[in-house]
Amino acid sequence: MSICSEHDFELEYVAQVVESHNVKKILVQLPEGFKQCFNYIVEKLREYLSREVEVVLSLNPSYGPCLVDEYSAEELKTDLIIHFGHTEYPFYNPSVKTLFIPVEFVNIDLEKIMSILTNLCSQDKKLCLLSSSQHIKLCNRLTSLSSKCRIVYKGVVYGCTKAGTEECDVLVVVGGGRFLCISQYLMYLRKSSSTILCLDPYSYTLWNPKEDVEKILRIRIWKMYNSLNRRRWLIISGFYGQAREKLVNTLVEELKRKNFEVAIAKVLKIDRETLINISNSFDVVVIASCPYLAFDFQDLDIPILTIGEAFAVLNNDIDRYRYPW
Ligand code: SF4
Repeated sequence: MSICSEHDFELEYVAQVVESHNVKKILVQLPEGFKQCFNYIVEKLREYLSREVEVVLSLNPSYGPCLVDEYSAEELKTDLIIHFGHTEYPFYNPSVKTLFIPVEFVNIDLEKIMSILTNLCSQDKKLCLLSSSQHIKLCNRLTSLSSKCRIVYKGVVYGCTKAGTEECDVLVVVGGGRFLCISQYLMYLRKSSSTILCLDPYSYTLWNPKEDVEKILRIRIWKMYNSLNRRRWLIISGFYGQAREKLVNTLVEELKRKNFEVAIAKVLKIDRETLINISNSFDVVVIASCPYLAFDFQDLDIPILTIGEAFAVLNNDIDRYRYPW
């Protein structure tokens, strides 16, 4: 099986939407890992459609549901964006018609997953599940399978969103990769007494993010410490759901109140070379668009902060780590 056939792109449903809304031109967005499935998607979609539809692939970033490619859709005059790989982002409504398809991972051994969870269960424990968009159906099925403990699915989360997890004794984040689970751990830091664990359903591995988070926190606190009393700040704001106007404005006001110099930059996709190029002109860079980027560029000499870290520095409160803002 290929990565494409192992996932459900819900193409029969997509075709129904296209037919019923008389759509003639579609813009398709796929996260990096699924871009290779574009031909597979178009081929299958054509099998379900009763007429010709123009399909264009967006190669602009699609890291999260915060980035719906409105610009290309308007430029190309497409009738519909099909944004694969994510559900709606809670902080943003795209201005163009968008269909979100979560893309469920279907090649899963349910029994294997269940036996991992059963080991964490007991009658007096409430076990809560959070997941990436690829495991919604899996998590819903798991809630009805165990007789040993209460399993509750709390929904999809992203690296900057959380779900209500009060009264959960154990919180299991279901998803591939490491950042999603680490971000949830950071979000609940000192705010929840739940044990947080990570379950990778692609490798059937259960892992504890604590050690990774401790390492990350040491670096983050060092970056914040190096930003204290620095004068020239650059705030990088993104597009669409990554614009975060209110937070950026509050941060700018706070910096000005302290008589610091502040500049704002706008970018769809920031890269390492650009950050290195501008690093001579500023003392601190705040990436307001996506909190993950501050972690990704943490090897650069100039301190690159998340919005939450920037506020902590300005309030002289770097020991109480806050994530993401
Ligand atoms: S801002 Fe970053 S972490 Fe949040 S949804 Fe977008 S890509 Fe994911």
